[in-house]
Amino acid sequence: MSISNKINEIKDLTRIERIGAHSHITGLGIDDTLEPREVSQGMVGQIAARKAAGIILQMIKEGKIAGRAILIGGEPGTGKTAIAMGLAKSLGKQTPFTAIAASEIFSLEMSKTEALTQAFRKSIGVKIKEETEIIQGEVVDIQIDRPSTGAGVKVGKLTLKTTSMDAMYDLGNKMIESLTKEKVQNGDIVRIDKATGKVTKLGRSISRLREHEVSGNKVNFIECPDGEIQQRREDEHTVSLHEIDVINSRAQGFFALFAGDIGEIKSEVREQINQKVAEWKEEGKAEIVPGVLFIDEVHMLDIECFSFLNRALEDDMAPILIMATNRGNTTIRGTDYKAPHGIPLDLLDRLLIISTTPYTEKDIHKILKIRCDEEDVDIQEEALTLLTKIGVETSLRYSIHLITSASLVCAKRKGTQVSVDDIKKVYDLFVDVKRSVKYLKDYQDEFLY
Ligand code: ATP
Repeated sequence: MSISNKINEIKDLTRIERIGAHSHITGLGIDDTLEPREVSQGMVGQIAARKAAGIILQMIKEGKIAGRAILIGGEPGTGKTAIAMGLAKSLGKQTPFTAIAASEIFSLEMSKTEALTQAFRKSIGVKIKEETEIIQGEVVDIQIDRPSTGAGVKVGKLTLKTTSMDAMYDLGNKMIESLTKEKVQNGDIVRIDKATGKVTKLGRSISRLREHEVSGNKVNFIECPDGEIQQRREDEHTVSLHEIDVINSRAQGFFALFAGDIGEIKSEVREQINQKVAEWKEEGKAEIVPGVLFIDEVHMLDIECFSFLNRALEDDMAPILIMATNRGNTTIRGTDYKAPHGIPLDLLDRLLIISTTPYTEKDIHKILKIRCDEEDVDIQEEALTLLTKIGVETSLRYSIHLITSASLVCAKRKGTQVSVDDIKKVYDLFVDVKRSVKYLKDYQDEFLY
């Protein structure tokens, strides 16, 4: 199976629409002058951070980001991931975005550097261009190799013409595989994909109408295409370097992508792939699309991982690295030294730092409203107000979680709009962190018998 067929299979299997935590975010919500709009592209508030991210976006577009990375500092739930996602989306629909938590690096069944390498390669897209030649015209001659069978007609030779070309265009034998659906007749306007040999009937030629060669009323009569008899159509799809690695890693095969059981990929495989991709690039068949790699709670990485990052940032194919932390001065893991955000100074030196600030009640209200719309949840205004209060007192993320559960409670009572009671019910059913800790503290004696 060719690589592009395998890739198409992957794409089909992964094209399942899902409402993720950040699915409402479609960009940074900034205008042409890089000024953030109050509410735009799913983004709310956090103006200073979004403005800074907008400038970074500009630097990326102008190719001025190489060797640097971004650090977003701020409390949990202040939109660090959301901003990284917004930036990736602003770079284009096809831009890969990978989000990991630093602690994941240590929990996978592979070395830390392998896990980081995979994360990097997941964030580098390869836009593969496939060129196919499309030929359109009116059928003026058919030579049938084999008689019609139940399965269809094998056509040996089709001759097409267009209005602008007097000369007939003989497609030759090899281009036409089979015509399974309709039999092609003289006077049909067809489109032929030269790569696959697929013939699509577009209709009947208008000239035939004049000649009264009409065999039914439902025939679609169209002008014979003019202009070029051949057209080029470019199909494009983007896959990540990691996907190409896995597909070509003989030990695992591409099903590993879905089983999640990828393991370590040999460096020779990666080298071959880099070479191949470089060749494709040279031949104009592929383009590298640097994506965004977001590493949350980056202070959890250790000194070896930081050295890896330093080196990886120098690579030609490096993605945009965005890290996030909510720590101030802390020990760099694997050493006895303390450093700002637990990040070694040589890496800190390369960073552009953005900070996020806690949300106001108004912002939380707007974000919750957007989330309700995203999840198709109809909510009463008073219920939204209560949910906002809960968000202010507990956390934005907790109140976002309550939307889904409250809508299920609402559906169960056959309601159409989430009410204050629905919110109250789920607030009692699912405790937030503060209440959960308090509950355990209050009953500690009973738990510790
Ligand atoms: P943590 O430090 O815990 O990882 P975080 O700072 O990355 O948190 P997010 O996960 O980005 O926070 O935010 C929590 C939720 O709120 C997400 O669903 C996110 O999409 C949404 N959100 C956060 N900030 C905004 C914003 N400014 N506009 C719209 N949605 C937002």
